[in-house]
Amino acid sequence: MDTIAANLQEIRAAIAATAGRAGRDPVSVRLVAVSKTHPAEAVTAATEAGQRVFGESRVQESRDKIPACPPGLEWHFIGHLQKNKVRQALPLFSFFHSIDSTALAQAIDRIAGETGKPVEGLLEVNVSGEETKHGFTPDDLRREFAALAKLSHLRIRGLMTMAPYSDNPEDARPVFRALRELRDELQSAHGHPLPELSMGMSGDFVPAIEEGATLVRVGSSIFGARPYPQT
Ligand SMILES: *Cc1c(COP(=O)(O)O)cnc(C)c1O
Repeated sequence: MDTIAANLQEIRAAIAATAGRAGRDPVSVRLVAVSKTHPAEAVTAATEAGQRVFGESRVQESRDKIPACPPGLEWHFIGHLQKNKVRQALPLFSFFHSIDSTALAQAIDRIAGETGKPVEGLLEVNVSGEETKHGFTPDDLRREFAALAKLSHLRIRGLMTMAPYSDNPEDARPVFRALRELRDELQSAHGHPLPELSMGMSGDFVPAIEEGATLVRVGSSIFGARPYPQT
C-alpha cells in the first residue's frame, strides 16, 4: 500500500480511538494534512486516500502548489502571515488558523470585505510564553477580543496554539488545557461562540484531542520528514 495512504489510515485510526476514549464523537475532530514543503504529487496521493483538508504555511509556496493539486480541496493557512501577503492569500485559503495580531485580523477583514468573500479564522495564542512563538498573550487577547469578535468579514471561530517542542507529548497537555480554558472564558465573557480549537501536531495530537481539539494539524506523520527545515 502507498505510504501516504497507509499513514493516513493509521492517523485516522489513532484520532478515532483517542476521541472514543475521551468520550468524544470522532467526527468532531478534523484532520488537517499539513503538506508544506511536500509537492503537489503528495497532496494528490493523500486525496486518493480520501483526504480533503490541507494546511500550508507559506503564501508563495501555496501559489505555486495549490493550482497543481486536484480541485475542490479545502486549504487552511497555518503559518505566520504578513499583512502585505493577505491579498495574495485570501483567494487561496478559506480558513486561517494563525491570526496572531489585531492588525492582521483587521487587514484580513478589510480585504475580505473588498472582495465580498467572508472568511473564517482562529486567533493564535502563545500560551507557553516562548519568545520564539507568534500569537497573542492570553492577557492581550482578553483585552482585544471584543474588537476582534466584531469583525464582520473575518469570522472568528476559535483559538489555535502550538505547544513547545518536546519528546514527551504529555508536556503539551497543560498548554492545550489552558487554551481550552481561555476559550471557555472568552466565550462566556463575550457571548461569542468559539467552537474550534486547533491544537496538536504529529507528536502531540493525542493529548490535544483529549483536551478538546477540533482541528489537528498533522504533517510529518502523514507525508514523512520535511525535505528542508521550515518555521
Ligand atoms: C509544520 C506545522 C505543523 C505540522 O507539524 P508536524 O510535526 O509535521 O505534524 C502543524 N502546525 C503548524 C503551525 C506547523 O507549522
